[in-house]
Amino acid sequence: MTRIEGNQAISEPVTIPRPEHVISRVNISENALKVLYRLKQAGFQAYLVGGGVRDLLLGREPKDFDIATIASPEEVRALFRNSRLIGRRFLLAHVRFGNEIIEVATFRGQSDGSDEEQLVQSDEGRLLRDNVFGTLEEDAWRRDFTINALYYNIEDFSVVDYVGGMTDLKAGTLRMIGDPERRYREDPVRMLRAVRFAAKLGFRIHAETEAPIFELGHLLDDISPSRLFDETLKLFLSGNAVATFELLRHYRLFERLFPATEEALSMEENHFPLTLVSRAMENTDQRIAVGKPVTPAFLYAALLWEPTRRLAQQMEQAEAGLTWLQALHAASSLTVSRQAKCTSIPKRFSVPMREIWAMQSRLEQRSGKRPLRLLEHPRFRASYDFLLLRAESGEAPAELAQWWTRFQDTDSDQQHAMLQEAPVTKTSKRRRRPRKRRPNGAGA
Ligand code: ATP
Ligand code: MG
Repeated sequence: MTRIEGNQAISEPVTIPRPEHVISRVNISENALKVLYRLKQAGFQAYLVGGGVRDLLLGREPKDFDIATIASPEEVRALFRNSRLIGRRFLLAHVRFGNEIIEVATFRGQSDGSDEEQLVQSDEGRLLRDNVFGTLEEDAWRRDFTINALYYNIEDFSVVDYVGGMTDLKAGTLRMIGDPERRYREDPVRMLRAVRFAAKLGFRIHAETEAPIFELGHLLDDISPSRLFDETLKLFLSGNAVATFELLRHYRLFERLFPATEEALSMEENHFPLTLVSRAMENTDQRIAVGKPVTPAFLYAALLWEPTRRLAQQMEQAEAGLTWLQALHAASSLTVSRQAKCTSIPKRFSVPMREIWAMQSRLEQRSGKRPLRLLEHPRFRASYDFLLLRAESGEAPAELAQWWTRFQDTDSDQQHAMLQEAPVTKTSKRRRRPRKRRPNGAGA
């Protein structure tokens, strides 16, 4: 049987037997294998699917392992004591082994709505699944990209391909299943996913999959800020932030996620603030590459710094008597509340983000006991890193950054000497620049 999708004709399914593909059980997490085997022994079809299969076929280490099965969520729940049903977007089972969670989803049928629209609330307020269960084939066709719809069958270790995913995988092509525009309208987050996978895998987005993205960015305005926050973290904290950022701007999706930042970028002078944001992305990628922790607070601090700084400057100029820190505080609040309309920023990240900003002017004061006290501050490290970033992009004095680099690394005698020699900074350059005007025009 052949299915016509767009102008493609696809024969289905293609089964790639074990000797003809590279997926070996050695590379699959033991826990995922346990789940697959137990489902199989209980008489249920069970497959590894999604990013796990895709990444294994590409010789990459999967981030996590997702399983698709014919068993209903309740049947899965009954098979695994260590499981629970979750229903954020649709009902599925999470099987927990220590830190590892294996997500087990029941085959879903043809459903046209976006994942989000399928939320239905019961009388008790519980979120319920509104879509019907389906067959393996239907499950394949409702997935996003062909390379994400490959199934590893635990029955015979073959790979099952309904959508031409194997060919696309070999060619390095990211192709939407079905009619791209319709699929983006169903769920606009798929546009962000396209960018994320293209950046992560170095794949080319197929022309027909790419074309509608330029026009449909505005659809992201209808997605909940909390879902977009989650997606933002996946976009920027997966080790490919630089490429992702460039693609997001290319497809004009970045402005939907960070409109204030995009506006600031459009006013750039001498590559600032583009340099600051790009460097923050580079740093993040480098840290991830060597296994260092990264925090959304720092990323958001970099993304939202320039619009906040500009706003604070305007406020400081407009209101006589307002100190820089007061202006910064007010501007930060405004930035956070504006940004929250696009992507939410949980308090546990916005609070440290604002601390990083506020610490910037404290880092300018290098006399007395303050610098030594600052070294002990829990936010010192992140604030210092942020100062480096500003210095590298030309927005803060390089000398100041170098001073702190030396100061924290030297012995206490040297530190005291450095404190003696340090220039006394009462007001920062930034604060001096905008001359305060008396409201009555005095001095004119
Ligand atoms: P990774 O986990 O490496 O980021 P992934 O492809 O596994 O990538 P997940 O978000 O874990 O991505 O989703 C698992 C699978 O579920 C996807 O591979 C895809 O088949 C399907 N899927 C996820 N989100 C969507 C969506 N918005 N529309 C259609 N299918 C989706
Ligand atoms: Mg996954």
